[in-house]
Amino acid sequence: MTDSAEKASDQQTIPADARSPGGRAGEAELFVRGYALGPWQTNSYVIGDEGTKECWIVDPSFGPSPVLRLVAERGLTPRAIVLTHTHVDHIGGIAEVLKQHPGLPIWVHRAEAGWLGNPLLNLSDGAGMRVTAPDASRLLNDGDELRLGGQTWRVLHTPGHSPGGVTLHHEPSGTALVGDTLFAGSIGRTDLPGGDYETLERSIRTRLYGLPDRTRCLPGHGPATTIGDEKRYNPFVPG
Ligand SMILES: [Zn+2]
Repeated sequence: MTDSAEKASDQQTIPADARSPGGRAGEAELFVRGYALGPWQTNSYVIGDEGTKECWIVDPSFGPSPVLRLVAERGLTPRAIVLTHTHVDHIGGIAEVLKQHPGLPIWVHRAEAGWLGNPLLNLSDGAGMRVTAPDASRLLNDGDELRLGGQTWRVLHTPGHSPGGVTLHHEPSGTALVGDTLFAGSIGRTDLPGGDYETLERSIRTRLYGLPDRTRCLPGHGPATTIGDEKRYNPFVPG
């Protein structure tokens, strides 16, 4: 990992005082740490619960050793690999994670269930890599509530960049992992297989912009932003 990646990853860290001011029991235990990994500088996240020492690994990209190191250093037990979608740069580190944590379940939206094993659909074939991953053991649906320790995260289906794109939303702390749907000042590309501009715009307007303005968005690439800032300043989908 380069110095700049280290710096980028630090920007993704939710500061302690932003976790859950005055929140309900259990919320202060949440932490999210991101690392920009691999040739596409994909943000791979660890969502942890300090209370139970459980975590998820979200979108493990190529070279996930910083993620694995954090998990080991904090004494965390990974419960699942959760994917915002299955493009190659979001799944490229799964094999390495599974070497360290065999049998770790993979969760993905049902619309991309077949993509993990299909290098054409996950775009690794086009990148000359032919990356595959084991089948998902849980298929996600819009509205699913996912439990991690004392936390509940809700699945929002936010397609458009890809058909099975999801956002993971933790309402109490105002945190949303939005994958490649929305970026700081930009939006996900829609020219890839299964992508669709109108669908993406609808996902952003009706799902993401429906979240509170203070919601901190952690995207699949680049720095964090907030829903309020994107509604005000995003040049592609103004709020
Ligand atoms: Zn993508």
